[in-house]
Amino acid sequence: MTDPADIVIMNANEVLTLGGASDAPKTDKQMNDLGIIQGGAVAIKDGRIIDIATNNEIHNRYVVDALEMIDADGGVVMPGFVDPHTHAVFGGSREKEFEQRLEGKSYLDILKEGGGILSTVRATRGLSVEELVAVSGTHVEKMLLHGTTTAEVKSGYGLNLDEELKILGAMGRLNEIHPLEIVPTFLGAHAVPKEFAGDKEGYVAKVLAMLPVVKDSGLARFCDVFCDDGAFSVEDSRRILTKARDVGLGVKLHACEFKDLGGAYLAAELGAVSVDHLDHVSEDGIRTLAMGDTVGVLLPGVPFFLMQENEAPARRMIEMGLPVALGTDFNPGSCPSVSMQIIVTLACLEMGLTPAQAICASTINAAHAVGLGRHVGSLETGKKADVIVLDIPSHKHLPYQFGVNHVDVVVKAGRTVVENKRAVWK
Ligand SMILES: [Zn+2]
Repeated sequence: MTDPADIVIMNANEVLTLGGASDAPKTDKQMNDLGIIQGGAVAIKDGRIIDIATNNEIHNRYVVDALEMIDADGGVVMPGFVDPHTHAVFGGSREKEFEQRLEGKSYLDILKEGGGILSTVRATRGLSVEELVAVSGTHVEKMLLHGTTTAEVKSGYGLNLDEELKILGAMGRLNEIHPLEIVPTFLGAHAVPKEFAGDKEGYVAKVLAMLPVVKDSGLARFCDVFCDDGAFSVEDSRRILTKARDVGLGVKLHACEFKDLGGAYLAAELGAVSVDHLDHVSEDGIRTLAMGDTVGVLLPGVPFFLMQENEAPARRMIEMGLPVALGTDFNPGSCPSVSMQIIVTLACLEMGLTPAQAICASTINAAHAVGLGRHVGSLETGKKADVIVLDIPSHKHLPYQFGVNHVDVVVKAGRTVVENKRAVWK
């Protein structure tokens, strides 16, 4: 007896299921268990996974010849990457600052001189929503080609109500026209805009006033604040995020990227879904976070690209029971790469994660960091069919053969959108 399916993916050497963690992220030793099925296959129907088993079992259960059959050809089949932290909707680029940094200027020096985030604000404000959708669409397409099927994207290059809504509106439009699923976050408190130079208090009041309007627009799911040296204080962040929570937005926080201001405690206090960066977090901050439900999102591409020594103490976090996720932080200044594959390599080389831990952190744990752990991030019956096929014989090759795109096929919500490394959805 065979059942119909829409797609079967056959002949994988390894299927990484990442199963068993849809209710809560994986911690500690669980992060080394990828739930591997050797010689596995996956069946998909109506956008969902309906079966995962060995090649022979799937062959016997489904009418393999009658459907779309994807031949994994001895490769790795795994959940699409979830990138839980990006700033992917922006205008312009900052390659000039890259050269300035090579000559010795720091990221914070450039920010203080009106460069950095504020230069991207100027470029983003200069674009119409259609232009913003067009330029950001090219980034979204690259993400899909590199195997990212869900990405959180933050606003924060508008810094006034109309411009922030324009950016969030562009995300909504991108969600309609591209298969990648965008989780939108309002980051009005990303930097103090030029109009409020010397009046941070005045700008915080503006952000507080924006929150109910942003919530009513239906364009954002989370609110985030850049809590760090040169940005917003813990007290500013507490005011903004408390109000965000009161109006019904989920809460995230950028903390301890350049300095430990105590943002980890605030994230724990507010029950944030994630706290991101954590390059300078204290041991006690980790312990406090590990007692709650907040996921630590680590962004190793940033210290790498900014040529900074400090990396988040990822191994300590894992040992202490904090669930850890990985993201690109894709943005034009501090990490202009969309590749979660390179982030997996950096997490191994710079933070000491095992390949399995890094893969877990970029899939199921990353899904929890954007509130979608029950829907994506693992290959389990009933979950959304976000599946990628990689041209490597085992998951250990993913961080090892670094700097090239291993993703051959991307299936998003049961639809093949990338084939032979080319976009096929258009
Ligand atoms: Zn960021």
